[in-house]
Amino acid sequence: METEEIVVNQNSNNINTYASLEEILNNVGCGICVIAMEGEEILFTNEKMRNFFSSGMLKEKICDVSKKKENTCEIYMKEEQQWFEIHNKELKWVDGRNVVLYTVYDITENKKYQQKIERQVNNDFLTGLYNRMRCEEDMAKYIEQIKHEGGEGALLYMDLDDFKHINDGLGHQYGDVLLKAISHSLQRIVGIESSCYRMGGDEFIIVVTHTKYWMLGSILEQILEIFSKPWFLKGADYYCTASMGIVRFPADGDNVHELIKKADIALFEAKRSGKNRYAFYGEDLDSSSFKRLDLEKNMRNATMNACQEFEVYYQPIVDVSKEGSPCTGAEALIRWNCEKLGFISPAEFIPLAEYLGLINPIGDYVLKEACRSCKQWNDMGHPEYKVNVNLSVVQLLRNDVAERIQKIIEETQINPKNLTLEVTESLAINDMTRMQSILNSIKELGVRVALDDFGTGYSSLNHIREMPIDVIKIDKCFIDDLGKEPFADAFIKIVCELATIIGMHVCVEGVESEKQFEILKNMQIQMIQGFYFGKPMKKEEFAKKYL
Ligand code: C2E
Ligand code: MG
Ligand code: MG
Repeated sequence: METEEIVVNQNSNNINTYASLEEILNNVGCGICVIAMEGEEILFTNEKMRNFFSSGMLKEKICDVSKKKENTCEIYMKEEQQWFEIHNKELKWVDGRNVVLYTVYDITENKKYQQKIERQVNNDFLTGLYNRMRCEEDMAKYIEQIKHEGGEGALLYMDLDDFKHINDGLGHQYGDVLLKAISHSLQRIVGIESSCYRMGGDEFIIVVTHTKYWMLGSILEQILEIFSKPWFLKGADYYCTASMGIVRFPADGDNVHELIKKADIALFEAKRSGKNRYAFYGEDLDSSSFKRLDLEKNMRNATMNACQEFEVYYQPIVDVSKEGSPCTGAEALIRWNCEKLGFISPAEFIPLAEYLGLINPIGDYVLKEACRSCKQWNDMGHPEYKVNVNLSVVQLLRNDVAERIQKIIEETQINPKNLTLEVTESLAINDMTRMQSILNSIKELGVRVALDDFGTGYSSLNHIREMPIDVIKIDKCFIDDLGKEPFADAFIKIVCELATIIGMHVCVEGVESEKQFEILKNMQIQMIQGFYFGKPMKKEEFAKKYL
């Protein structure tokens, strides 16, 4: 019907209609042309199309396109740097010939914008290297290629060693300079120019594709070589090394996530065995490492979730120098009831938390909880009750450790003399002067310091004298041998006498039996902690029993 109407109109006022139709077609946003299928004669073009055609080869390209029988396609004119989107449709022309109607859109601006976005999406803003997303895409491609072409590739997971020290020590802007410099050096290594990725922070992935796999040895050497020289930052030379975990694909896995997971296991192995090196993934790095990764993931989640899965338990400490050995306070001990992994003991997760830096938020949480509890006990008629909180070496080494403790004291309103911080000896040996100054800054807040696990590891009686401590906690291992090993009895006795002379208190840990208690009562011991009196318990239970 419609066609007929147009034809009628055309007949009645032919010239006018054609002119206005042409006018309309000149004003649409796309180029339009009609080309005869036979002989490729151009039968009609609108103005826009004539402009497009002025740019050289477009007509030929358009005809090529129609031969491919696609209805829509994009073409790129390299010299003009223009993109066109072309739609075609076969028609019968007014004179009966078979023709193709082309509508052509200039999509150059869109394309440029898209490329810019893609670059932003694929590249790391700071270093210009490809990012994690691009890495995953590329790896899928490489794995697919290997399936068809055979061969083997390697994925290197690299993490800078102690980058945090440079970042924290010199400031982020120097950390950034270092990351950029490292990125540039990596990209200059032949064979991996376009397969280096920054995964975030100080982590990189380098892929050695199957066509370059024969170069793996020399690539690894060159990477380590980068880190054998110092970097000049803020007027001085700094060393920053890197550790790498390496997986082979498809041997170690045929999907990106599995490969990265295994590479991370190998990376941990490289770090564990001394850093500044690489380690290949092998089955022997097995299940314990997988468990670690699970633990790590869950611990990060738990810490992010305001430490809700963590709970502070309290183990009573009694004063044996007083009649009836009354409770005088408690040691706060953390418990982690992980939703996914179940109950995990602090002996297992505290070292990992220290390694991952998560001990800081976790430690702050414990300290705050413990101070809050102690303040409540004090307010409930036991003003002398004290609380002991373990401080990890990592927490102690923070520049602002004293300020953080002070803030928590102010926030919770605890009387600082009721707070005892337990530290271990391990680090004291390394740098006694530093340890002294840290402990003194803490003691200035009015809190007390206890030396935990005394007698294990680096112990030396001499250190007790050098360290500004108030309480010595004798480790459970001596109590286990009480009455059996004369050395254990003598050791405890001597430490107690020595402590009395220099004005320190002694607390004995791990007392489990009446017999042990009887032996200890006859020494000059003040405090005892152990299952014999009470196990670590929930706050409510402690309140019920001892308040
Ligand atoms: P620690 O500070 O030496 O704490 C004493 C440990 O001995 C506790 O183990 C306690 O439950 C256990 N214990 C006490 N009396 C007895 C006893 O009579 N018999 C036996 N068999 N064990 C007894 P727990 O709670 O598993 O903690 C282990 C270690 O984890 C702690 O040793 C401490 O080094 C660390 N830890 C616990 N909570 C925290 C925390 O909040 N922060 C930090 N940094 N470390 C913590
Ligand atoms: Mg302790
Ligand atoms: Mg201890």
